[in-house]
Amino acid sequence: MSTIFCIAVIVYGCDEATEEVDNSDDNQEQEDDSGNSSNDTNAPDISVLKDLFYSDNVTFEISENTIKITTKDLPDHKSMYYPSDDPLYATYDEPDNKDFKKNPGEIAAQNIVFTIPRFPEEATNKEATGMGPMGVAINSVAFFNQSAAPGDDILDELNTFDQYEGHPAGDTYHYHTEPVWLTEASGNEDADDERFLGLLMDGFPVYGPVEDGTRLENDDLDDYHGHSHATDEFPDGIYHYHITDDLPWINGDGYFGTPGTKTQ
Ligand SMILES: [Zn+2]
Ligand SMILES: [Zn+2]
Repeated sequence: MSTIFCIAVIVYGCDEATEEVDNSDDNQEQEDDSGNSSNDTNAPDISVLKDLFYSDNVTFEISENTIKITTKDLPDHKSMYYPSDDPLYATYDEPDNKDFKKNPGEIAAQNIVFTIPRFPEEATNKEATGMGPMGVAINSVAFFNQSAAPGDDILDELNTFDQYEGHPAGDTYHYHTEPVWLTEASGNEDADDERFLGLLMDGFPVYGPVEDGTRLENDDLDDYHGHSHATDEFPDGIYHYHITDDLPWINGDGYFGTPGTKTQ
C-alpha cells in the first residue's frame, strides 16, 4: 500500500509542477516578444510538443532554455515482457520466425530524466549516440540506437522483439526500430505513420517513416538520419529525424544537435 501511496503523491506532485510550468511558459512568451536572448537565432521552440506526449508516464518541466523530461518508460501496448500478472501482459507466438527467442528481462517502471535543449540547433561537432536511452517516444518508451548490448548482434536481437517491436534490456523497455504501435493501425486507432513520434536528447523531433504519402528510405536522409523542412508542429521548418525500415532505423551517425544530459 505504501508504494501505491508514494506513486500517487509523485503523480500529483508532477501535475502541480506542470501547471506551474504552463504559467511560466506564458511569461516566457511575453519575454520572447520583448527580445528574449534565448531565441535570438530563431531556433524552434520544442516546448510546443509537450501535449503530444499523451502518456501519463511522461512529464515535462519547461524552463527558459531547457526542458526536463521524466519518463517511467512503460509501454501502453501489450507485451510478453510485462510480468504475467500485469493487465498488459500477453503471450506472443511468432511461428514464422524460427529464430524467435525471449529476452530474460521483464518490464518495470523506470525513472529516466532527460534535460534537453528547448531551442535545439545544429552542433558544430556531432556527438555519437551512446548506449542506453537516446530519446523518448510519445508513449513514454525509450528510444535506443542501432547498437546491441556489447557482445551482441543487433540483427540477432531483432528476434527478441515483442508483438510491437520492442524489448527490455534488463528491465528497461525500448525501441530500436519503428514503434509500430504508434504508426500502424494494429489495435491502436490513433496510429499514424506520418506522425510526430518523440524526441532525441538533442531536442530534435523524430517522425514516422512516411512523409507526404511516401515511405522514406535512408537515401532520402542525411548522415544523422534527418533533414529540415516545415512539419505540422513547426510551420517555419525544423530539422527532424525520420525512422526508416533499414539500419540504422532512428538515428545515423550521431546527434545533429548538442545532446542534453540524462540520469536513470
Ligand atoms: Zn535493445
Ligand atoms: Zn521530413
